[in-house]
This record gives sequence, C-alpha cells and structure tokens, in this order.
Amino acid sequence: MPAIRRNIVPLRYSDPSVVAYVRSPTDWLVSNCGWIRGRSGVLLVDTCGTERDTLDLVKDVRKYSTVEMPLTLVLTHAHGTHHNGAGVALRNGGRILAAESAVSAVRAGPQRYEDTFDYKNWGTLEAPKPEAVHAVTTPREVDLGGVVVEVVPFPGVAHTDGDLVVFEQKTGTLFTGDLLSVGSTPMALHGSIPGWLDALYWLDKTFPTVRTFVPGHGALSHPGSFPVAVLRTYLNWLLDATTPETPDFAELATIARRRWPNWSNPERHVGNLMRAHADQHGRPLQEKTALRAILDAVGGKIDLDARLGR
Ligand SMILES: [Zn+2]
Repeated sequence: MPAIRRNIVPLRYSDPSVVAYVRSPTDWLVSNCGWIRGRSGVLLVDTCGTERDTLDLVKDVRKYSTVEMPLTLVLTHAHGTHHNGAGVALRNGGRILAAESAVSAVRAGPQRYEDTFDYKNWGTLEAPKPEAVHAVTTPREVDLGGVVVEVVPFPGVAHTDGDLVVFEQKTGTLFTGDLLSVGSTPMALHGSIPGWLDALYWLDKTFPTVRTFVPGHGALSHPGSFPVAVLRTYLNWLLDATTPETPDFAELATIARRRWPNWSNPERHVGNLMRAHADQHGRPLQEKTALRAILDAVGGKIDLDARLGR
C-alpha cells in the first residue's frame, strides 16, 4: 500500500529561501507544492488535495520560517489536487492569488470528484473566505522582503482555462503547475492541446533564465531536458493521431501506452486523445463521455483509499 512521500528540496537556503516540495508516487491526488520565504513574507505555491496532507505541508512551511509571516497562497490552477487545501492553509489568515478563470472554482471550495474517485480520507476541507481570493489578470510582482516573486497567468487555455506560473529570479525557479508533468500521463481533459503547445512555447519565451522547473507532478526538471521535450512530442502526437474524422481511440490509447510505457496513470491517454480530436475538429468535448472512457480504461471508479493507502 503506497503512502504518499514528501521530499523537501531546498533550492536556496536564505534571502530568499526557495523550496520545492516534491510528492511521490505520481498518482491521482499526489501533486507538488513549494514555497519562497523572504524577510517579511512567505509565498506558498499550491496546497494538497486533503486536509491532512495540507496540514503536513503547512507544518513544514512553518518549520522553515522562524517567525509567523504573512502568507500569500498562489494557486497554479483550479484542480482539487492543488487547491482543495486553500481554506485549511488560510486558517491562520492570508490571501490567495489565482488566475481570473480559476477564481470561481477556488471560491466554491474543495472538489471531491465523487463520480471519479472512491475516497474517504479528504478530512475537513473548508472553502476559503471569498474575499481572500484575488484574481491575477496580468503579470504581478509579490514583494516578500528582499525578494520579488513573479506571478504570471498564461493568456489562454492550456492545461485548464486558468493556469498561472510562479518565477523566482535569484534561483531561476519556475513553478509550472500542471503545464509540466514529469513521469505521469498529462491530463488534458479540461484544457486544450494546441493551447498547451502554445503554453510550452510561451514558457520558453517568457522565462529564458529558468534553471529549475518545479512541475505540478513528478521530479524536478531543467530547460532542454527530456521531460520537457517528451511532453511537447506527446502533445503533437495526440494531434497527429486524431487527425482522422473517426479515430479508434481505444487502439490509439494502446499505442500511447507502448510509446510512453513508464508514465503512471495511462488511463488518461484515451481522454487526452478525445480532447485532441475535439480541439482540432472544432467541436466541444463531451467531458462526461471522455471521463467515462478514462474510468473504463482503469476498470471503474478509482479507489484512492487502496491506491494512496490512508
Ligand atoms: Zn491539474
């Protein structure tokens, strides 16, 4: 029974302290976070999907902050795995920044995806106070004292319709949210495949001095490295494979499993193929049908109690 492990990776120790919080194994509901601490404030990137995991995260942030500092929580997008703990993280106050299109979902509170998951361990997850959630519509600088962090929304639809990234210049650290996944099958159901390819190009152009990517899922990565190239290849393949009017999605999903055999959660391929097909043929994706295909590929609702072990 694999429990979730958290690996605290310091990228710089002080002025500012920059930490990647890398959780494994890569699976549904297991995502990365991170934080940047200046002399007068802490910026936390994303929360976890459950109360307990978010409390563990907040405890780790506090361990590395000698005094109680004002908290800015930046949410990379409105998938529950990343924002469910927003209310939990703000129990002692703070503010939340999210892309404009993500704000309503963040204010609505935790998402338990009851059609998708069997899971009993969410804990007590409250929505954040609506007035604590602020929309980021254009690139914004957050001054933490001795360090200015850039919070930059992607102007388009990519992994979702409300993705943003966080950049810390001194270390060249870019927290990408799910615009980059390493070692797990990306999840494109709520986004756009051409838009995601545009976003990868935009990341290259907008942040030419990146030294370390902290992806939304999986291990740290570097510019020009294999995981970034392979994501681009995968997204292009999805479009190529679904050029025909009526592709055989199940057969293509089998081919994808063979081409990317080491990725976790391969059941997502079929949904991604449907998304690519809808995008390039100018049709809305039937999300329920695509989700049903994903669940069929994994044999029914996903039993997170068994997979995550608590
Ligand atoms: Zn996501």
